[in-house]
Amino acid sequence: MQHASGTLWVVATPIGNLGDLSPRAVETLRAVQAICAEDTRHTRPLLQQFGIDTPLLALHDHNEANLSERLVARLLAGESLALVSDAGTPLVSDPGYRLVAAAHEAGIAVSPVPGPCAAIAALSAAGLASDRFVFEGFLPAKSGARRSRIEALAAEPRTLIFYESAHRIREMLEDAAAGFGGDRLGCVAREVSKRFETIRRDALASLRAWVESDANQQRGEFVVLVAGADEPEDAKLEAGRSLYRKLVEHLPPSQAARVAAEISGAPRKALYGGESA
Ligand code: SAM
Repeated sequence: MQHASGTLWVVATPIGNLGDLSPRAVETLRAVQAICAEDTRHTRPLLQQFGIDTPLLALHDHNEANLSERLVARLLAGESLALVSDAGTPLVSDPGYRLVAAAHEAGIAVSPVPGPCAAIAALSAAGLASDRFVFEGFLPAKSGARRSRIEALAAEPRTLIFYESAHRIREMLEDAAAGFGGDRLGCVAREVSKRFETIRRDALASLRAWVESDANQQRGEFVVLVAGADEPEDAKLEAGRSLYRKLVEHLPPSQAARVAAEISGAPRKALYGGESA
């Protein structure tokens, strides 16, 4: 007998506050034949809290490649499954990508049940430009690699979003202040939606000093956001400097700087007087 395929539901769960599990998430988790969870020990209490007794199976980075095929076979046979991670939206710095890709390749319907995501929650409260942003996940754990990554991102004009753990937050903020510049605006969003939630927006150097000086601010889970590089001003300065270099071959430096500033819109002082001009 031919079965219609089931659906793979990708269900977001709370990032701290149980009140954030949506009614549709509860309904979906009740209705499916099985829930694939990153860590069943973590998800079981959540299900119990909501009186959901759907069978759980573990799907994590180490078994996802092997298990995906079997799960796709179940979906093709008509079962519907849900995918959850320990917290927030699956696949966002969490497992699930291989299963979702395999489901698409097998022609199975994949449907998200949207909900909490630490990156988006933090962005919504950070007060940094949010029209364009880049999610970078976790920076490398080793300091050399972390600094190189920050250096590669220093000129990025879009708001940057990073995840960070408690044991690396101090080093990360130190490297961020050094690599992006201590004056660059940022935001530390700690323990979002939980009892000790703290959202602080300030210059990176100040954020670093503040976290450094208060052990309580070094606990919990973190999203660190960094304002994008100031694109138009940088571009103006670059154009102004280039003009100045050409004009100064024919005009006195002060006059060359005045003309270059007028044409490029860069501040005259930034062009005249410094060797870098
Ligand atoms: N899938 C999750 C999501 O949608 O946000 C993220 C999972 S990732 C493995 C865990 C990281 O997310 C934490 O180390 C922290 O950086 C961030 N995070 C998760 N919950 C958070 C919270 N309540 N407040 C701040 N950051 C959080």
